[in-house]
Amino acid sequence: MIRLGIVGVGKIARDQHLPAIAATPAFRLLAAASRNASVDGIAHYRDIDALLAGGEGIEAVALCTPPQGRHAQARAALLAGRHVFLEKPPGATLSEVEDLAALARAQRRTLFASWHSRYAPAVEPARAWLQGRAIHRVRVDWREDVRVWHPGQDWIFAPGGLGVFDPGINALSIVTRILPRAFFLTGATLDFPLNRQAPIAAELAFIDGEDTVIRASFDFLQSGPQTWDIVVETDGGALRIGRGGSELEIDGVAQTLPAEAEYRGLYARFAELIAAGESDVDLAPLRHVADAFLRGERRSVEAFEF
Ligand code: NAP
Repeated sequence: MIRLGIVGVGKIARDQHLPAIAATPAFRLLAAASRNASVDGIAHYRDIDALLAGGEGIEAVALCTPPQGRHAQARAALLAGRHVFLEKPPGATLSEVEDLAALARAQRRTLFASWHSRYAPAVEPARAWLQGRAIHRVRVDWREDVRVWHPGQDWIFAPGGLGVFDPGINALSIVTRILPRAFFLTGATLDFPLNRQAPIAAELAFIDGEDTVIRASFDFLQSGPQTWDIVVETDGGALRIGRGGSELEIDGVAQTLPAEAEYRGLYARFAELIAAGESDVDLAPLRHVADAFLRGERRSVEAFEF
């Protein structure tokens, strides 16, 4: 049993981490660090340094804070000899996550850069079905209402918060897992609200080494029904992932999938990595986002308030 601490008791910590940890016998949650929130029944600290110095003998920490402050927290934990679970995105820059991966190796501790959408039930069956098929075209539509899913989260529109790429990177984490070949960005348009530092919408074009066209449309202002879909057209028919990975259709026929258990899957993987003395840090989704910021055309759009 691994003695666990959690840092940043906000929406995702409460919605997903706490129930998933409670359902994972490999972990026992003993402490939380958060400035304005606590978890009933366990030790509370104001910040990670106090948690690491506390008396609970914490062996691993799950960082559920916004990405901008994550490097300093993860570094402190690794230097103190703890294993680290990073929420997605693993950091605010590629280089800071590479720095953490090197530190984890030097400290012989586990660093897990989690991508929860990769643990959605449709993902591994989709990956298996696509192996060996000729891929003609890929279309990603990831459109949600930021006011519903991220109410008042100003950090999301601050530098390093990724804006619409905060959900969009989930789509990229799936696409980079299921497609058989690597791909790269050829162009993008990013819409920045006049009063914000991160985009609220993005159109992306990618290509792979065999000229397969991959297009993605991300929007943070979709009201009404929400869209988290990926369609892959192949020589063997079309594969569609719907509802962020909870649904899978092949040529219009719904496939039977197990129930959603993304965060249980993440904690099972974290336990497995710790037991094996390994890390899992795949930067591909964050690299595509960084490329969009490097290569994309910037457009100014109407100011945004929550
Ligand atoms: P959130 O509701 O804002 O919670 C983050 C918590 O981190 C805050 O409640 C805050 O708690 C703490 N924190 C520490 N430094 C902060 C700072 N400078 N600004 C704001 N909060 C700070 O955010 P969240 O939705 O849980 O997202 C956290 C991470 O999980 C993000 O990387 C996000 O991409 C990821 N994630 C979110 C979802 C989702 O549906 N919301 C899904 C999957 C992954 P204190 O004030 O108590 O310190």
